[in-house]
Amino acid sequence: MITIKSPREVETMAAAGTIVADTLKLLRERTEPGMSTEDLDAIAEEFIRSHPGATPSFKGLYDFPKTLCTSINHEVVHGIPSPKRVLKEGDLLSVDCGVCIDGLHGDSATTIPVGDVSPESERLLEVTQQALAAGLEQAIAGNRVGDIGHAVQAIAEGAGYSVVRELVGHGIGTTFHEEPQVPNYGRPGKGPMLKEGMTIAVEPMINMGKKEIRTLADKWTVVTRDSSLSAHFEHTIHIQDGPPRILTNPSE
Ligand code: MG
Ligand code: MG
Repeated sequence: MITIKSPREVETMAAAGTIVADTLKLLRERTEPGMSTEDLDAIAEEFIRSHPGATPSFKGLYDFPKTLCTSINHEVVHGIPSPKRVLKEGDLLSVDCGVCIDGLHGDSATTIPVGDVSPESERLLEVTQQALAAGLEQAIAGNRVGDIGHAVQAIAEGAGYSVVRELVGHGIGTTFHEEPQVPNYGRPGKGPMLKEGMTIAVEPMINMGKKEIRTLADKWTVVTRDSSLSAHFEHTIHIQDGPPRILTNPSE
């Protein structure tokens, strides 16, 4: 069921989303070679819980054990923070984070370059952000979910990259993953209609090589089959009659 949020619910989601964005901003500032993904997870959990009433959405969600998903290089999403995973210069670190306040969630992801990264990696990050921006431009009441996916796909494939099919964006609210699914591919004018008051997470996962993925033996970490690099950027947005309101922007 696709739910329409009340203005009060949207404001709570914006409060949660702001903490998510501030967490990602803090991690971007703190990330450097030699740190482990466990170090970053500890920073994130402490920061989130320093806000009264805020809890990490991911911890315990489908039994996921941590605050963040941290996915390095060819890992697409759902990497589990670990003291054994130490970042090195040139890595691409995708960080996904959710925060819950009063039973309502915010969800955002970003891919952080660790130190200096290759020009090819820089381009992947730029294009994935452009793809997200193009998708958000289509996230207007009266458009359809396929308009978002088509816009994301056009940018990504136009740059020579591929779009992960099995993992998609989603409605979000009192449940972390709600209807509708928001694929990062599709056809204009197809899929559920976007209506004022819907809140959705748009989250392109873009591979430098082929689109195929597989899940590692830990049952969580999703990687590209061809070991090519992958990037992930995500915002939670409020659908309006006009450009969407981004609920996961930092506080300053
Ligand atoms: Mg996310
Ligand atoms: Mg999401």
